[in-house]
Amino acid sequence: MKIELELTPTVEELIRPDIEGMDEYTPIEPVEVLAARFGIHPEAVIKLDANENPYGPSPRVAQALARYDGYHIYPDPMQRELRSLLAHYSGYHRDRIIAGNGSDELIDLIMRVFLQPGDEVISSPPTFGMYRFNAEVCMARAVSVPRKAGFALDVEAIERAITPRSKLIFLASPNNPTGNMVSNADVVRLLRTGLVVVLDEAYYEFADGTAAPLVREFNNLIVLRTFSKWAGLAGLRVGYGIFPREIGQHVMKIKPPYNINVAATVAVRATLADLGTVQQTVRLLRHERGRLYRQLRKLNFIQPYPSQANFILCKVLLGGASQLKRNLERRGIFVRHFGYLPDYLRISVGKPEHTDRLMAALLQSLPY
Ligand SMILES: *Cc1c(COP(=O)(O)O)cnc(C)c1O
Repeated sequence: MKIELELTPTVEELIRPDIEGMDEYTPIEPVEVLAARFGIHPEAVIKLDANENPYGPSPRVAQALARYDGYHIYPDPMQRELRSLLAHYSGYHRDRIIAGNGSDELIDLIMRVFLQPGDEVISSPPTFGMYRFNAEVCMARAVSVPRKAGFALDVEAIERAITPRSKLIFLASPNNPTGNMVSNADVVRLLRTGLVVVLDEAYYEFADGTAAPLVREFNNLIVLRTFSKWAGLAGLRVGYGIFPREIGQHVMKIKPPYNINVAATVAVRATLADLGTVQQTVRLLRHERGRLYRQLRKLNFIQPYPSQANFILCKVLLGGASQLKRNLERRGIFVRHFGYLPDYLRISVGKPEHTDRLMAALLQSLPY
């Protein structure tokens, strides 16, 4: 009896060693936490750190959620209504569309369909951190092919990085955090490698182009989109993918049956019934992006990068980016700083008054 007890493993010994040793993903912190830390009223916080829509969703979303009377019933595992709505909005057949609990969930599900331990996922940093993170959770190898100067994709280097273990290539377009697009010619060239290309168009509504029509030509292209950024529904978690049928059927098989809650479906229905209102906020943000960019360019210590998304990456010249971030925080303005891009800040596009407050704060908080 005693000996058996000694052989009993500790809980820590039961945990996967690779998970034990893994760094956690560092997401942004909630407004209340930031406000409390800096002693400011939550309403006074200017949140330019997560690319959310500061105008919020259509007012019809709250009305529809208040009126809905089916909260006690499980959602449809086949997402029939939601997929039809998304098909109508996107212009792709509903059989090709799968909704996820945010596009983050779809990134995870796609990896689980394809990856066995030791397989390789290629992505091009600086880019969205979840590609690497989810690959590691699947015990796959996250292969990084750095971008060229100016953050253009290095297509030749990606081709050279391919090995027999390579399965997936993740591309964000517009890319987060750099704001630039991948050209359709580059997407096609990577599709010709035969690997599955996941094109993450989370910022599609803010951009001038898309490579999504290529899904009709290539059975190895998946396009991901989301309602988090343009539609003001980040908190309700709705993303979707346009899938080749051969891949989509397997994602449907392994997804959690109730991954989309009924509130999210109600919210999408209400959003699409009031599309003009939400699209007007997208127009305002696109316009404000131009104004913010031009104002940032006037500062001699900041170099903004042109963006097709609702954020602008800025190089803080002569260093001091994290100091500058802290100076802005003390004034209630929150922007994003990444450990892997120490000299840069990513600033989400807000309302005109946010731009004005930001510019005033930048001028008062010169890092040197
Ligand atoms: C924000 C973001 C996502 C995640 O969107 P959700 O639908 O909220 O999960 C995915 N990809 C990129 C590139 C993003 O910036």
